[in-house]
Amino acid sequence: MPDKKRIICPRCEQDYLYYYKPDTINETIILCPECDAVWMLGKPLVYGVYNIDFYDYTKFMQNRNTEPTWNKRIYESPVYEDDLKDDDV
Ligand SMILES: [Zn+2]
Repeated sequence: MPDKKRIICPRCEQDYLYYYKPDTINETIILCPECDAVWMLGKPLVYGVYNIDFYDYTKFMQNRNTEPTWNKRIYESPVYEDDLKDDDV
């Protein structure tokens, strides 16, 4: 089985992207643990326009009246290129 390709953060290019479910909201987001950029599921993972294409994790959470939380589960669910192809169908 070939290695699946992981997605590098298009904003900082310093870390991989992960699916992450913060403790305090009932939503799964895509997060870069390095630069705290957030993408919404099903949206293109591009470093485009702030607040349209991507968000800042702290502000994203504040907009939901909660604080950003971190836990070790953040590294459990990497985003793979194959996932994105499925989303396009
Ligand atoms: Zn990043």
